[in-house]
Amino acid sequence: MMAATVAACGPGPRAEAPAPAENVILVSIDTLRADRLGCYGREPSFTPNIDAFREEAVLFELTIAQAPSTLSSHASLFTSLLPQHHGASIKRRRSLAPDHLTVAEVLRAEGFKTAAFHGGGQLDAVFGVGQGFDVWETPGHRPGEPFRDEFRPTVARALSWLEQVGQNPFFLFVHTYENHHPYTPSPENLAAVEADYEGPLPSEISIELLNAINTKRSTITPEDLRHIESTYEAEIRSVDAAFGALVEGLRRLDLYEQSLIIFTSDHGEEFGEHGMVGWHGHTLYDELLRVPLLIKYRDSWHAGQTLSDQVRLLDVAPTMLGALDRPRPTVFEGADLTLYAAGGPAPAPYAVSVLEEGGSSIRSPGWKRIRRSLFDLSRDPGETKDVAEEFPGTSEKLRLIKLELITEGPSIGAVAAPISPELRERLESLGYVE
Ligand SMILES: [Zn+2]
Repeated sequence: MMAATVAACGPGPRAEAPAPAENVILVSIDTLRADRLGCYGREPSFTPNIDAFREEAVLFELTIAQAPSTLSSHASLFTSLLPQHHGASIKRRRSLAPDHLTVAEVLRAEGFKTAAFHGGGQLDAVFGVGQGFDVWETPGHRPGEPFRDEFRPTVARALSWLEQVGQNPFFLFVHTYENHHPYTPSPENLAAVEADYEGPLPSEISIELLNAINTKRSTITPEDLRHIESTYEAEIRSVDAAFGALVEGLRRLDLYEQSLIIFTSDHGEEFGEHGMVGWHGHTLYDELLRVPLLIKYRDSWHAGQTLSDQVRLLDVAPTMLGALDRPRPTVFEGADLTLYAAGGPAPAPYAVSVLEEGGSSIRSPGWKRIRRSLFDLSRDPGETKDVAEEFPGTSEKLRLIKLELITEGPSIGAVAAPISPELRERLESLGYVE
């Protein structure tokens, strides 16, 4: 009936739910610590495009990745399952099994065109996370050539794909390793981030150099450490520029307003907090688990909102389906964050994360239990002092909750991943060695 379709207009209370989005763009910037973005408190900011996007998005201040490594974390992002339940692991050379259901498969079955433009490596097709994508391409990388500014060609390729898709519903996934080690910033980006450095380290930080530092064959000063961080941040500046080009392209193609756009990362990076520099995948401390999460809804619903309670990367897939008004598979373990943004409670007080080489953690807003260690996050946010013996009750409670969360969930075995010589070379170039 006509009357039922008439919506109230003019200023008023915020809508309880966003209008369903037509399309979704999921951007994953590999190895991006939340605290390096202006919108997450970095001062001065060198991410103007991401900060501007944040003004039209909902910002989740405390988002926990389910693994500090690429394959396992992205598998959780796409399947909304804990790593214990999806089984994909680079360390064990296990791919995501075809029997698992990914958000791309759900959307393709709903008639969406699906495409991914990514950096390869642990996202290579053999690892199974491309299930459900019509297109699974690595446009920014030419075999045998060093990686430089690979996000910009990836964005360009994504935009050219969108031009072909037109106004059909689509799910676009865009990913880059640009700020992953080795850190190879352009001189301009490094100069913009670093005022002066007169120490002995070069302006590009190789994996060999990071290895030498991390095995104590080389010692560095606090100024050297700051310089290494600057090379990482200078690469984020380049990511920011390419992200700006993506937003501009979406506007030009008239695809911005009606789309759900999600900006996140798979894990962070350590800079000396727990003994390693320029590295990830080796601990479950917050510098490796806290990632940015910005969600721009259709018509910028709740633009500028900040939500401070803890959420998880595995909540992203159910949130996507909810915002697109599509059915959510019962097997998904995450929650729809839109309900939280609309005024409901945060969906899950506990976040479980997994280290591929063994061990897991459970994080509540105030505590984290890593293996048998316990950290009081309210008094010790840097996770420096194990207080398990002081708080045995808290430690035991968290252990039991984790056990329960891990015991629930599907049991589909992962499958062995065959690794070609080319893929081995790519993995080695990203610092993954046996
Ligand atoms: Zn990664």
